[in-house]
Amino acid sequence: MSSSGHGSSHPPHPHVALLPSAGIGHLTPFLRFAVSLISQQCQVTLITTHPIVSLAESELISTFLAAFPEEQFHLLPFDPTTASSTDPFALKWESIRRSAHLLYPLLASLSPPLSALVSDVSLISSVVAVTETLTLPNYILFPSSARMFSFFAYYPTLLSKIAGSDHFDSCDEVLQVPGGKPIPKSSLPPPLLDPSSLFSSIFTEDSKKLGKLDGILINTFEELEPDSLHDLRAEKAQGLPKVFTVGLKACEFERSSSSNTATLMKWLDGHLTGTVVFFCFGSRSAMTREQIREIGKGLLASGSPFLWKVKDNILDKEDAESLDVVLGDELWERINEKGMVVKEWVCQAEILGHRAVGGFVSHCGWNSITEAVWHGVPLLAWPISAEVVDKRGFGVWPKTWGWAGGVMVKGEEIGSRIKEMMGSESVKQKAAMLREEARKAIGAGGCCENALMELIGAWKI
Ligand code: UDP
Ligand code: UDP
Repeated sequence: MSSSGHGSSHPPHPHVALLPSAGIGHLTPFLRFAVSLISQQCQVTLITTHPIVSLAESELISTFLAAFPEEQFHLLPFDPTTASSTDPFALKWESIRRSAHLLYPLLASLSPPLSALVSDVSLISSVVAVTETLTLPNYILFPSSARMFSFFAYYPTLLSKIAGSDHFDSCDEVLQVPGGKPIPKSSLPPPLLDPSSLFSSIFTEDSKKLGKLDGILINTFEELEPDSLHDLRAEKAQGLPKVFTVGLKACEFERSSSSNTATLMKWLDGHLTGTVVFFCFGSRSAMTREQIREIGKGLLASGSPFLWKVKDNILDKEDAESLDVVLGDELWERINEKGMVVKEWVCQAEILGHRAVGGFVSHCGWNSITEAVWHGVPLLAWPISAEVVDKRGFGVWPKTWGWAGGVMVKGEEIGSRIKEMMGSESVKQKAAMLREEARKAIGAGGCCENALMELIGAWKI
């Protein structure tokens, strides 16, 4: 679409600016992508927004910056009461969107001149105005699956179908997206099912601007989502930009040197291969105390040793309550005898790579799925991108559990589903197969490396 008229000549290696939005789930793929670009001799400028919303993000950025440079982009003051949301991450997206016009002088002044900007999906509308003025090629790095991208692209049409109603409640239990199979409503973030939410309005506004982009980068690979990718390529003919499958994996700079990590790794070292259940629900999915306690009972009932990251608050800065209070004294004592329980940030990608881990109970954020796939760890999915787990057979998806927090799931059921995941040979085999496919796709000469080389080739022109 846009050709780069930004600067008169380009350096032999492209200079790419990366602009993530708020939340570790959005930041992490950007940093991993930055490392892929740098390993191909590209120059990368990471643009971070200030202030940052969670401790986990500040710490990950600091670790990254110990190795690579950064530009800062200060946000305009933002009054959260002017946006219809209480979600701290959605509010931060909105705040960045309202400041994005300030990017113009920063992008225009970078030297050598930029070959492209890759920004977060939640910033499309505000960034397009800037890149059009600069005639700078504009890409997004989509932080979820190809399947979810199809949903995003079709979202305004779905909304128009329920025009006049204020909710998707009137729709079937599944939502039909062209080319693909229907998406069960239970696997979608609840705010997207509420057209009056901030998340829904950002999705709608940005989706309509997709045609103005030069390409869509998705952290996936052919064998993980063959049908969804096939369908998206068919959609390209109907005006969607080209999709690049930039499969991403955890990087060296993320390796943790904390004493907390050393303790967890040592604990895992003491267990037999494939016996430990790892429970972690991502960076922003908190649960009620009641559900947390049922999970504790479920982990005990599973009979497996477990490593459990408890999350009591959406925002880590506010996650201050001690575990005996969160779990209650009696459960805390019983759990302490059987498993390792922590509240602080854990090095998930490293834990998944430990030979002792045999199963992962996950909220199925896309980064978590791709990390589990990379290490061939079976999943018990609860449920963001759970469909893919079910369809590709590398885990168990109890469909009635719904979106985490929506339905109260009893400990007994959690325990028996964990046993099902840990005991299934077919799930283990599929996870192991997909692990090999991931390594082929992301390794030398694989489809993801080819996609990256194609992008870099386009940026050199
Ligand atoms: N993560 C981690 N330690 C934690 C919690 C999360 O390393 O204690 C990482 C996890 O490995 C993943 C990211 O945070 O890379 C979470 O992203 P995901 O897309 O899975 O979910 P989100 O947090 O965006 O819901
Ligand atoms: N899917 C999903 N969420 C994701 C990725 C995939 O729900 O994040 C589902 C979707 O239902 C899709 C299925 O996984 O139909 C299988 O993915 P794909 O179409 O890529 O492969 P298939 O197994 O159909 O060949």
